[in-house]
Amino acid sequence: MDGETNIEKLRELFEQFPGIGRRQAKRFVYFLIRKDTNYIQELVNEIAKVKSEVTQCHHCLRYYPKTQGESGVCKLCAQKDGSMLMLVEKESDLENVEKMKLYEGKYFVLNNLSPHEREEYRALKKRIRYGITHEGLKELIFGFSLKPELEHEQLRIQSFLKREFPKIRITALGRGLSSGIELEYSDSETLKYALTSRIELKKKEDE
Ligand SMILES: [Zn+2]
Repeated sequence: MDGETNIEKLRELFEQFPGIGRRQAKRFVYFLIRKDTNYIQELVNEIAKVKSEVTQCHHCLRYYPKTQGESGVCKLCAQKDGSMLMLVEKESDLENVEKMKLYEGKYFVLNNLSPHEREEYRALKKRIRYGITHEGLKELIFGFSLKPELEHEQLRIQSFLKREFPKIRITALGRGLSSGIELEYSDSETLKYALTSRIELKKKEDE
């Protein structure tokens, strides 16, 4: 490979990153070319380390260090209250909610479902079934930010929840005024309000 081809190859790799276009990918390549060898070596090592030392939790689908639990289940899923399950879009949402220590229940990270899984939600259904039989799961909370694509997804999930899990209470986080809630960036007051003013989407059928 000549130098030009190498640059192109690296550009293509960066272009696969979420939200990165051709032009930005090229800027990353030239940024790396200007960096010294130590930096490059550190970057390469850290990427390899993350890949080998981090694993995915079977229950919530988030990624966590293997040292925190060997059973394939993360610390949060092993320790927190299983009667509530909050559906969040991404790990950064989960991390922000967790940081504020206002919510006792467990989580499920939708973005970590494969695109194929996201059509049928088999892993989510399996998780809910497990929660009902083993953890006394009673309530599913939609912890979604206000975005049209997520609202559509919420409706899709809600419809199978009602059909397949009639005994589960379904709620959504309360919305602060008109701005809605961005879980990833919300402060503790906003989250507290969102949690205490949960909107009832469906009550348990036996109530
Ligand atoms: Zn977990």
